[in-house]
Amino acid sequence: MHYLDYAATTPVPPEAAEVMVRVLTRDYGNPSAQYGLGREAHSLVERSRAVLGQALGCRPEALYFTSCGTEGDNWAIRAALHQNRRVGRHIVTTAVEHSAVLQCVKRLEQEGYTVTYVKPDAAGRIAADRVAAAVREDTALVSVMLVNNETGVRFPVEEIAQLLQGRAALLHTDAVQGFLKAPFTAKSLGADFITLSAHKVGGPKGVGALYAGGRAKPPLPLLYGGGQEAGARPGTEATAQIAGFAAAVRLRLERREETSRHLADCKAYALERLGTIPDLVFVGESDAPHILSVSLPGYPSQNIVSDLDARGVCVSAGSACHRGRASHVLTAMGLERKTAAGTIRVSFGPETTLEDIDALVQALLDHKNTRFPML
Ligand code: PLP
Repeated sequence: MHYLDYAATTPVPPEAAEVMVRVLTRDYGNPSAQYGLGREAHSLVERSRAVLGQALGCRPEALYFTSCGTEGDNWAIRAALHQNRRVGRHIVTTAVEHSAVLQCVKRLEQEGYTVTYVKPDAAGRIAADRVAAAVREDTALVSVMLVNNETGVRFPVEEIAQLLQGRAALLHTDAVQGFLKAPFTAKSLGADFITLSAHKVGGPKGVGALYAGGRAKPPLPLLYGGGQEAGARPGTEATAQIAGFAAAVRLRLERREETSRHLADCKAYALERLGTIPDLVFVGESDAPHILSVSLPGYPSQNIVSDLDARGVCVSAGSACHRGRASHVLTAMGLERKTAAGTIRVSFGPETTLEDIDALVQALLDHKNTRFPML
């Protein structure tokens, strides 16, 4: 199999999986329990938080474990709006956020909030001053992702943070695709809330983290119950997932230079090889080392994905049609319908090989040679 869908999810390295098995079978105490097994579980959670703090260059106490990136996004948005409830009920975001942000703010529109959606240009870019220009006196929150999950374009969150200085609006960034790929620290970004998810960086599914620092106050809980996570996120800690998350992050930090060289090599090779396919179009100006979006205009992406699957190549059409409608990201970029409908996302990870890319290119060529394009 040739797995080229690392932006969707990643394999857990054996070292991190072993840590999880050990926690599940041996160090399985409840972190709230008062005896040794419980104290050890509590210490494991805190050691894991410290690893994440190291990766983000922040105080561990500014980090709260969550169940996923989706929870982190929803929580950050609700917490920021609560903190700034006296500022107003206006939100600025982009038209190309992940649905974890977009669907949350859509719900908030039904609750009486007003939302401004800043659109990207044809390359998928969003200039910081266009975001700043949308901010009003009553803007309580600006939410702009760090790296777009469909195009790999990195947004200027640092510059947005600078432009927001002296304004009341809090800044949230969904850094799920940028974490450990685009270099940043909590301080260098300058965002008040940062969302992370484990399964995009070699951690298990079902765990993430929310950074609430800068001007953010301890976030208002979404759930009510026990006193876990400083009372902000009750529920018995998912110790195995948390430990697996930290183990994966530690590995990525240890192998950071090697991995970034490897991803750069994979991307350069893919750009060169994919560029030899007649009529293939590169979509957006990807900055992320691990994401490339390409289109075979006129060839529906669902068919490409299933043909590639039959040839053992896994890519995503998440970037393209949902029941015949182009993705919100490609639509916002103003892509021609045929190009949008033929777009697939290819994404790499530490385990990707050049043979995987060769297999992809061959499968795309075979697809083109055996299928007729739409009119
Ligand atoms: N935000 C972005 C940019 C993503 O790519 C994803 C996952 O695809 C999420 C949020 C949601 O993360 P999770 O799958 O952990 O809920």
